[in-house]
Order: sequence, then C-alpha cells, then structure tokens
Amino acid sequence: MKIMTNRMDRGFFRYQKEFEDKALEVLRSGWYVLGNEVKSFEEEFAAYTGSADCVGLASGLDALWIAFRVLGIGPGDEVLVQGNTYIASVMGITINGATPIFVEPDEFFNIDTTKLEEKITERTKAILVVHLYGQASKMDTVVELAKKYNLKLVEDCAQSHGARFHGQMTGTFGDVGCFSFYPSKNIGAFGDGGAVVVKDKKLAEDFRIFRNYGSEKRYYNKLVGANSRLDELQAGLLRVRLRHVEECQEERCQIAKRYLEEIRNPRLTLPRVREGATAVWHQFVLRTSHRKELIAYLNEREIGTIIHYPIPPHLSEAYKGLGYERGSFPITEQYADEVLSIPMYNGMTDEEQTYVIEALNRF
Ligand SMILES: *Cc1c(COP(=O)(O)O)cnc(C)c1O
Repeated sequence: MKIMTNRMDRGFFRYQKEFEDKALEVLRSGWYVLGNEVKSFEEEFAAYTGSADCVGLASGLDALWIAFRVLGIGPGDEVLVQGNTYIASVMGITINGATPIFVEPDEFFNIDTTKLEEKITERTKAILVVHLYGQASKMDTVVELAKKYNLKLVEDCAQSHGARFHGQMTGTFGDVGCFSFYPSKNIGAFGDGGAVVVKDKKLAEDFRIFRNYGSEKRYYNKLVGANSRLDELQAGLLRVRLRHVEECQEERCQIAKRYLEEIRNPRLTLPRVREGATAVWHQFVLRTSHRKELIAYLNEREIGTIIHYPIPPHLSEAYKGLGYERGSFPITEQYADEVLSIPMYNGMTDEEQTYVIEALNRF
C-alpha cells in the first residue's frame, strides 16, 4: 500500500460538487478581486474564530509581515519568537527590518514560556507565538507577559485553525492572529491565501488599506502599501471549506487518537497535548534518534514522511547574517534532528492508518 504524507485530492473529492459549483459561480460572476465572496468569507471566518473582524490577504507570510508593519514594528525593534518554527514566521519579522530573538521550545514544540521573560530587553516590542503543528501554545503566560511589558502580541496560526487554549481560539489572544490558507493547511485554498483576525475594527481598516496599495478610496493613496488581496475564487472555495471544518477537524483528531493509542515503540516518542490546550493535528510529529533508519524503513514500505523542519531558521543560509552557529539553541537543534511527520490528512482510510501503525510498531 502506498501512503503519502498528505493527500489533498481526498479533501477535494469529498466535497467536489460544492467546490465546482462555487468555482463556476465565481467565474461566471464577472467579479474576481475584493467582492462579495471575500466580504462573506471575512465575516464567516471572524465569526468562526470569535474575532471582531477578519481581513483576507494573499498569503500567510503576507499576514505576518503586514501585521508587524501595521503595528509599527521595524528597525531596532526586537521580536521574541520560538527557534523551531517555519522560516516564514521569522521572515515576517525581518522583512520589516526588526530583529528576531529566538526562544527555545517546550516539550509540546511551542515557545517555552518559562524562558520568555529573560529575553525581554528595552528593545523588545512584540512576541510572535507560533501554534506549531496545530497545538495551542501556553497563552495564559504569554498574554500576562505581553501585558506586563506592554508588548504587541502576534499569533502565527498558519497551522492552528480552530485550535483552542482554555476554550479560546488561537488567533484571538493578542493584537493580530495570522492565518495561511496554503493548500496543505487545515483550512486550505486551491492556491495561495491568508488572513488576519483582529479584535480592533480600526486595526482591521489599517490592514484593508495596506493590502490595497495603501488606498481607502481608489487612486487616493495614503501610504505605501502592498498588493496582498485574497481573490474571490479562493475566498469562495474557502467558504466551502468552512462549512465542513468541524467534521474535518474531528476526523484528524480521530486519526491522531488512533496513532496515540496504537503506536507502541520505545524508539519513538509520540507527541503530547498540553493540559488546557487542544490540537487540530496539522501534523502528527514523532521524535526519534533513529530518524534516518526510520525514514528508509518507511520508504521501503511506501509510507511517506516529511521533516518539519530539518534546518532551524537560525542555522539557515538566509539568516547567516544573524551570527548564530550550531549549539546556539540546543533544544531547537535537537528537535530539527529528531522530528518526523507521519501521514495525516483528511480522507485517510482506516486501512491506511492501520498500515502506518503496524509498520511503526514493527520498526
Ligand atoms: C505555512 C506557514 C506560514 C506561511 O504561510 P504561506 O501562506 O505559505 O505564506 C507561516 N508560518 C507557519 C508556521 C506556516 O506553517
């Protein structure tokens, strides 16, 4: 049996008719950018997350960098972020000329909140929390520290659509929640897409102006903005996804439950869920010090795996200029050496799950 790490076709075919009807509706409408689909999606996504407002953007990276821009964070400012994130989180900071200050992760792959305070200086302006792999970070401590030191709080929710901490949705704890709708995310478009959710309507207007060349009124430009708009087709298709989000999240939780209950192998460390947090299982990430052999073993059995992520941002070529080296962040680096994501996707059959579980148990 051949099992890929992700099967986006399954998520399409399950709701094929709805997606195709919506696509045709948008194509035939004659209106393709900033129209009713985007407006409706923004309202529905704001309601889903429990936010006052949502602004559709062109990607998750845009959501991040525009968030810091709109919040006024730039050169000379420091932003705290976990070391073990996807590099886009860090680019969201550095595109603005601000400096990322890396913090080691905790056992749940999120920012270690016990190590946050020691990193705060008078240059610290914001915390960027990444709810990595779909699990909510320890938001009570993060919110408390952001208040205490008067820091902006931005959440990278590219992997955590629908994940909660103490019942509250990720993306709603701070100033801005940044989402990606890249096709493989838990709520995925059929191309690129992103959004921010905010509780401050005035801030939402700043995003609306920024995403459209800095103009509120056509051809009257208040500032130098960007072209970062979620298009009508993607917004329409995302509205179809939103209708089915609960059943899709539930399905992922069921797969994760089986993995957690049935994978038994002392050479593998299974992920754990923090008390008070929920996980939406964007990825199911194991740790093992035998990763190379495991990948080869699973490959032979035609089971796909991916490493999220093999090179932490501080060691990537792109950030050589920050001056870090191996050993700068030992926990982050250990995770980069040990993590492995196994197949997890909507439409994964029971047989496929069993095949993966049995293979892992025999490793
Ligand atoms: C996917 C992702 C992004 C970037 O989103 P794009 O839509 O691909 O730009 C940012 N942060 C994290 C944690 C991601 O997983």
